[in-house]
Amino acid sequence: MSTLKISVALVAEHDVTVDAEAPVSELQPEGAAGAPIESVHVRGSLAEFEDGYMFRGEVSGTYHHACDRCLASAEHPFSREVLWVFVEGSAANLETQGEAGGEEEIEPEDEDAPAVGVYSGNVIDLAPQTWEEVVLAIPFKFLCRPECAGLCPGCGANLNFESCRCAVTEPVETKNNGLQALAELFPDLKPGPLEE
Ligand SMILES: [Zn+2]
Ligand SMILES: [Zn+2]
Repeated sequence: MSTLKISVALVAEHDVTVDAEAPVSELQPEGAAGAPIESVHVRGSLAEFEDGYMFRGEVSGTYHHACDRCLASAEHPFSREVLWVFVEGSAANLETQGEAGGEEEIEPEDEDAPAVGVYSGNVIDLAPQTWEEVVLAIPFKFLCRPECAGLCPGCGANLNFESCRCAVTEPVETKNNGLQALAELFPDLKPGPLEE
């Protein structure tokens, strides 16, 4: 069983503490675009709450991606506090409720309102909510460091470590070749739409 699946029978007895490192392969829905991260840490506790259950805790991890400016490897740690409410039912039920104006205490417009997930059977799966946090936390830009000087578009020199060679080499021959080759090495740098 996945580390993020929790039996509701267990929660009925006492609050369940979660402290798990989940591989992203366990979280990523089939067909979803990947995220540049290997595993995610989920920490917190699951308790009974009104007609369902509530998880309060923290999701954290580190993205690994090529720097958008110089293509060196860049790391981007993240940590998000989360509050999830789980109600019994299916995703379809949840949407209908939302259209009808939502439950009394859960206003979709309220930023402090917890995200609502559903469970069915006797297991609560934290994976879909965790995945959502992972996707939402992906930075718009990956930089090896904030002041990264990047690559010269003319000669491809890494301006963090070397100076531009454009003035000393024949521009026609070197132009674009470097960047073209780099683009082929990193095809997933192209911005793609996030999976809905
Ligand atoms: Zn860089
Ligand atoms: Zn140059």
